[in-house]
Amino acid sequence: MEFKGFMPEMIRSELEDAVGRDYVSTSFSEKLAYGTDYYWVARMWMDKGKEPPLPDFLLWPCCTAEVSKIMKIANYYKIPVQIWGGGSGSQGAALALAGGILLDMKRMNKLLCVDEISNTITAEAGMNFQTLEWYANERGYSVMHIPSCLTCCTVGGAIAHNGIGILSTKYGKIDDQCISLEAVLPNGDVICSLPIPKHSTGPDIRQMFIGAEGTLGVVTKATFKMVKEPGCRRHYAFLFDNFSKGIETCRKIVQTLKPSLMRLFDEPETTSIIKKILGFPRKGAFMNMTLEGIPEIVDIEEKIVHRICEEAHAEYLGNEYGEKWYENKITFFYPGHTMNNPQMFGTMDTCATFDNVEKIYWAMKHAVEDNFENVRFIAHCSHWYEWGTMIYDRFIMDDPPEDPEESIRLHNRIWNKAVRAAIENGGVINDHHGIGVKLGRLMKEQYGPAMQVLQGLKKSLDPNGILNPYKLGL
Ligand SMILES: Cc1cc2nc3c(=O)[nH]c(=O)nc-3n(C[C@H](O)[C@H](O)[C@H](O)COP(=O)(O)OP(=O)(O)OC[C@H]3O[C@@H](n4cnc5c(N)ncnc54)[C@H](O)[C@@H]3O)c2cc1C
Repeated sequence: MEFKGFMPEMIRSELEDAVGRDYVSTSFSEKLAYGTDYYWVARMWMDKGKEPPLPDFLLWPCCTAEVSKIMKIANYYKIPVQIWGGGSGSQGAALALAGGILLDMKRMNKLLCVDEISNTITAEAGMNFQTLEWYANERGYSVMHIPSCLTCCTVGGAIAHNGIGILSTKYGKIDDQCISLEAVLPNGDVICSLPIPKHSTGPDIRQMFIGAEGTLGVVTKATFKMVKEPGCRRHYAFLFDNFSKGIETCRKIVQTLKPSLMRLFDEPETTSIIKKILGFPRKGAFMNMTLEGIPEIVDIEEKIVHRICEEAHAEYLGNEYGEKWYENKITFFYPGHTMNNPQMFGTMDTCATFDNVEKIYWAMKHAVEDNFENVRFIAHCSHWYEWGTMIYDRFIMDDPPEDPEESIRLHNRIWNKAVRAAIENGGVINDHHGIGVKLGRLMKEQYGPAMQVLQGLKKSLDPNGILNPYKLGL
């Protein structure tokens, strides 16, 4: 923001008119709390005592009308606006890189409607996702979006990254679960998508905001499907000789029936993370799975799964490790269990059709381990579709350079090498963590000439480029 003299105060007083004086702040210490999300570079930068990119104004709107007023002011003065949900994203997508206004959405946390005829639930976008889930649970339902960040992400953040939860293989991801939404455009206009997600009434406006990382509009409310809590939920575990055998078998399973959850770990993760958290001591490729729904149907599915696994000579490990995995579904990501700064790490989150999955796994592993000293590559497959899967692949370096500038350089070189290896082999950069500022530079390589469609959309909805600048490569 380049305003001088009394102009920042003039703008501040307009913003105070829009949301009330108590909900505008320029306090340095309050702004500092928005200096990092879960992006490794931002966290490392602050850990080293460096000043992060900060907004000029912090704003806490309480309703759609206030968001609209803010966007009108920002659009007039051409001030950047950065939307902040729970700040749990790992791509730096919530950071106010260009200064300006930071819009913290968490006051917009009202439950608006529960419809037990259509089985839908509607809430404001700043609601914590766990709270939304509790509202559904109180009535015997679930939204079935159970990500590891359930307790720290908001409805709007999940929509912005098209998030995914552990039960995705049966219930899908956010674009399957969110049926309609309301958004405020960069010019302040309030729009709604059509009330249903399946139609032939032109392209789906709802989808234009799902996964858009707040670059096209501020999502202010959303309606989700609710599903009756299942009659039974049963957990299992199997051991494969190797990751390759596991991928082939899981493909057969998911092309036959729908487990709610299926996680297959490569050999290095089996002997590290699975050993550490579940106490499973053996080598091979560990797989845990959950079947759920009507008990009689689950009985039949169970038999089919056993048959497919027996044909693959997988060893059945009983229910214990599957149950233990489910109990620890979020603990896996708690400090002490997962990687943490000062380690350097990245979750590369690559998605592909089955014909390319193994090729990509090996290309990325070689790209990381053959090119960078003391960097290891581990992976598991988390989310399964009839056509392919997501490789939750990570690189880890225990002793990154002390110097923060050197660290950024190395971090970006590892990402570039690994992501390019994925793209060259038919992979898509990302299944659900999003692009943010971390991967924006690679979007043109991912999309090719199709990138102009996204750029055109951005230009037409946000001609002044004020909303979430430098995110998504836009
Ligand atoms: C330990 C851990 C585990 C995780 N596990 C998962 C997982 O299992 N599944 C998964 O999908 N992700 C996971 N994540 C990633 C992250 O939590 C998700 O992307 C989450 O949905 C982000 O939500 P948020 O509210 O924290 O968004 P933020 O981090 O605040 O913002 C993310 C992006 O959303 C935009 N945004 C926020 N609110 C709105 C809005 N109302 N309108 C428009 N844009 C908006 C922001 O501008 C930004 O671009 C995990 C992260 C951590 C730290």
